[in-house]
Amino acid sequence: MNLLAIETSCDETAAAVVRDGREILSSHVSSQIALHAPHGGVVPELAARAHLEMLAPVVDAALAGVEGGWEAVDAIAVTRGPGLAGCLVVGAAYAQAAARARCLPITGVSHLAGHVYSAWLADAELEPPFVALVVSGGHTDTIELSRHGEARRLASTRDDAVGEAFDKVARMLGLPYPGGPVVERAALTGNPRAFPLPRTRLEGAFSFSGLKTAVRYAIRDLPAEELDDHGIPRRAEVRDALAAAFQEAAVTQLVDGLEAAVEETGATSVAVVGGVAANRALAERVARRFAGLRVSVPPLRLCTDNAAMIGAAGWHRLAVHGPDTDGFDVDPSLAEFA
Ligand code: AMP
Ligand code: MG
Repeated sequence: MNLLAIETSCDETAAAVVRDGREILSSHVSSQIALHAPHGGVVPELAARAHLEMLAPVVDAALAGVEGGWEAVDAIAVTRGPGLAGCLVVGAAYAQAAARARCLPITGVSHLAGHVYSAWLADAELEPPFVALVVSGGHTDTIELSRHGEARRLASTRDDAVGEAFDKVARMLGLPYPGGPVVERAALTGNPRAFPLPRTRLEGAFSFSGLKTAVRYAIRDLPAEELDDHGIPRRAEVRDALAAAFQEAAVTQLVDGLEAAVEETGATSVAVVGGVAANRALAERVARRFAGLRVSVPPLRLCTDNAAMIGAAGWHRLAVHGPDTDGFDVDPSLAEFA
């Protein structure tokens, strides 16, 4: 069974064709990073308009990679939430119109389920039950997939998502958007002990706003001659040390949170998914801490937003719940995990 999958929940316009949930026949992503970079973050209205412009060409490109094109499509999966309302609507309207026109079954998929299933897609030996740490620009969650189509959230962030914290700290340090890769690079040479930052430990939750504020105060408290006119540290050594201290504290909190989830569920397999899974310090720390367990970290193209993961999650959702009825609505705060 071939699923055409569509993802437009945030700032990537993506389409993919996935066979039987696991074989990626084609996958295309049009990123809006350049569009949002001057603003230091995703601007919802700009994102929605860009989806409107790019979705049809991206779907065409995905179908061009499959023999038979539309004729080879058996069902459609589309991200229904969580995400930006104006962005979700573009994908959902397109997918529902196509399903109606071609009399195809459709399933509205949770973006978070997509991230969870990106690990299953990438690792042929990974089967539920497993615990996924979902870390991205919009999410920080631990989710247990107990069996296909059945999952629950164990913990989530009370305030900022960890990727968002990376982006904001980058800004304070005068580094470009997106902040994750540049903060990671700066942290490689920085001394994480030069600035002692607080360690956040919450029961059943994550929080990054206190850590972000601590970085802000550490910068504010530097001697005046250390700061430029925009209040940004002048010296690379100071900048890199702050980046390293922040990353160290953020990674520690994430790994502790994943450990709590493993203890709670008794899971023997863990996965790290979402854009922040690209962070090598995090991947290495998870590999070390959970050395006795199966650890899956999908390749970057499956960690950042893509439609193939929506195809994988959608295939299981169809199998367990059957198709959705026509005309379903998007849900910007959808709390569904499989
Ligand atoms: P997503 O929301 O899944 O598209 O992922 C984007 C988020 O991941 C942004 O907030 C990035 O700053 C963050 N990110 C990307 N690469 C890294 C990295 N190497 N380390 C930490 N965060 C990263
Ligand atoms: Mg995402």
